[in-house]
Amino acid sequence: MTYDTAIPAATALLTSDRAPAHEAFNGRMYIDGAWTESADQQRFERRSPAHGHVVSSFPEATPADVERAIQAADLALRHGPWSKLKGAERARILLAVADGIKARVDRMSLLESLETGKPLAQARGEVAGCIDLWQYAASLARTTSGDAYDTLGEDMLGIVLRQPIGVVGLITPWNFPLWILSQKLPFALAAGCTCVVKPSELTSSTTVMLMEILEQAGVPAGVVNVVTGKGPSVGQPLAQHDAIDMLSFTGSTRVGSLLGGLASQKLKKVALELGGKNPQIVFPDCDWDAMIDAVVFGVYFNAGECCNSGSRVLVHESIAERFAQAVVERARRVPVGDPLHPECKIGAIVSENQLVEILGNIDKGVAAGARLRLGGKRYEANGLYLEPTVISGVAPDMSIAREEIFGPVLAIIPFSDTQNAIDIANDTAYGLSAAVWSNDINTCLTVARGVDAGTVWVNTFLDGYPELPFGGFKSSGVGRELGKQAVEDYTETKTIQLHIGERKNWWLPRQAA
Ligand code: NDP
Repeated sequence: MTYDTAIPAATALLTSDRAPAHEAFNGRMYIDGAWTESADQQRFERRSPAHGHVVSSFPEATPADVERAIQAADLALRHGPWSKLKGAERARILLAVADGIKARVDRMSLLESLETGKPLAQARGEVAGCIDLWQYAASLARTTSGDAYDTLGEDMLGIVLRQPIGVVGLITPWNFPLWILSQKLPFALAAGCTCVVKPSELTSSTTVMLMEILEQAGVPAGVVNVVTGKGPSVGQPLAQHDAIDMLSFTGSTRVGSLLGGLASQKLKKVALELGGKNPQIVFPDCDWDAMIDAVVFGVYFNAGECCNSGSRVLVHESIAERFAQAVVERARRVPVGDPLHPECKIGAIVSENQLVEILGNIDKGVAAGARLRLGGKRYEANGLYLEPTVISGVAPDMSIAREEIFGPVLAIIPFSDTQNAIDIANDTAYGLSAAVWSNDINTCLTVARGVDAGTVWVNTFLDGYPELPFGGFKSSGVGRELGKQAVEDYTETKTIQLHIGERKNWWLPRQAA
């Protein structure tokens, strides 16, 4: 790519004199209530993408280890006490897990920051936020119930039970390791399910640490099992094994559709949280300062490595140039650098592969005729850092407008009127989230109703609450997490029909003469 030297310089990289001194985390797998190495004793390491040193290491699970974990979960489901405990008892244990996370926020957030490259202060907020997810799941453990029908006639009572769906395979990604696990695991446990968890090989520490917390909180052996290692060898069996009843996956649309297909062939229930190309739609009458802040936050939060990243901004054509200049001016000052620096807002990119992938996407956009306004380069530094990038003049048919980039790259696309904005917003394969910025309630509601998205923010961006369901339309996923149905999603219904009194015969044999 030829780099336009006229574009403003991005902020200088923040460096920290705080040495990331800490002992590497020596993770083990947790199978049937025991801490274990892999059957062949092989291990792999994770290095900090910001500093290069070894942060943690884990066993590389063999097929025999994965089989053992699945068998343990299956046995615990059928013969263990977990699915038969009172809701109140399961809730008590989930609350104890929440307390256990609270007691380890510092250690867990440091490991998340070092493994993912995200700012330490942000990691702390996420780990602390998980406490609320476990507490919310505990409340649902006591209140989720079946149904009764006393409306079927005098001789019939219908009862609908909600029973645990069974053994759930949970596969999680590297961008929000503990948070995404906490959107799944406590709700599966509240339902009475047993689980096998496979974290991303890049970020397994907090998942393993969580097992120490579960053990201390009193989760019985076999109820939750963790296997560590690579996706295809360790994760894929969770989509295919006969003893797995449900697969819950968060990650790329490519792997999600592969695993969803495999699991569906075996008629398993599937929940998929996948990618997004989420539009923020900006009208001229919006609160300008709030909008500019939310656009910059929306695309650079977690270095853009976020399924909800606001990676496309659709701007009314009358303000497109003013908007591009304002966003560049704000973006070039966002602090980028060492995730341990207290001022850091954009840390390191998770891996060299991811960084190369992002740069390739920027090149494609520029080659297609879009205009690079800021960034577009990696920093000359030891860590994996990318300049906050802004690209304007993006046409809706360019790949940069349609494909998930998963990096700090903003694409600015002009629109002419409300319907045109909705049409452009909906013209991708994705449908995870969107935002609308306007002070006109009619505009906001028209856009909110018209866009294909599981979540629409109005004059705000990226807020989230356990009470509100989360998930995507179209290629962004299948099913919803969170919300008051979060536990029901991990159940099967069973209908019981109770006859009362004498039953009328279908047929009576004729009396012998
Ligand atoms: P993946 O979808 O490859 O990884 C997500 C999880 O699936 C990880 O635990 C991974 O394990 C596992 N996995 C990978 N391949 C398989 C497989 N064949 N069978 C079973 N499990 C598998 O995402 P990446 O980490 O490679 O990221 C690539 C892209 O995915 C990103 O650029 C982004 O676009 C998107 N993504 C979206 C996320 C979201 O929140 N929606 C989260 C992360 C990524 P392992 O890491 O060990 O390979």
